[in-house]
Amino acid sequence: MTHRLPKLPYGYRDLEPHIDKRTMKVHHGKHHQAYVDNLNKTLEGYPELQSKTTMQLLRDLDSIPEEIRTSVRNNGGGHANHSMFWPSMTFLGGGGPDGNLLDGIVSAFGSFTDFQEQFSQAAVTLFSNGWTWLCVDDDGKFVIVTTQNQDNPISQGLIPILGLDVWEHAYYLKYENRRAEYVAAWWNVVNWGTVTGSLMAAGMRKSADHVSDWAKNTWSQLEDGWSKLTKPKDS
Ligand code: MN
Repeated sequence: MTHRLPKLPYGYRDLEPHIDKRTMKVHHGKHHQAYVDNLNKTLEGYPELQSKTTMQLLRDLDSIPEEIRTSVRNNGGGHANHSMFWPSMTFLGGGGPDGNLLDGIVSAFGSFTDFQEQFSQAAVTLFSNGWTWLCVDDDGKFVIVTTQNQDNPISQGLIPILGLDVWEHAYYLKYENRRAEYVAAWWNVVNWGTVTGSLMAAGMRKSADHVSDWAKNTWSQLEDGWSKLTKPKDS
């Protein structure tokens, strides 16, 4: 398949004042678009890979031909990560999780506040461009991890259910070098409903043998769902 830039489920200015319109426009329309374009270009001449979802590509990078592996890792990762990032935010966001999501967070981190502190700390102190994630591990336990560049935790066998982009391009226009302010503001737009949906999808993995099966069965459905969450609005 040809990978496409997903439309945002809100307008560019809708996350203000926490995330500004100009950042959203460049981030989505230029940065994410570039990952999509570069991934499609990279996969030209590899028809057997074109039918896979980004998460299927990323879960088993060793199987990707060496000459395109780094590009798939970077551009496929960039496409997957941002596709997950946009719907994890909403102008009706903030607050906190409930149900199984809250239970898992409390079980792993003690409380929601402790989780927020640990996650924020990981995001603020990540030295390079990269991402901070809440993931589900093999035992169904929640873990916070960081990745560099556009690496996705699926390549380590972890299922990401929430990711925060801490590349400078995600915040520099508004927050300049004040990454901690961006991270603090981001909590106000987190869409916990979307995170709950991702957790449910991750839970389905328990009945599958491998991450690969989970990715095959589930990720394409998630991507499909996200692409339908569209309410194109350009202003
Ligand atoms: Mn980004």
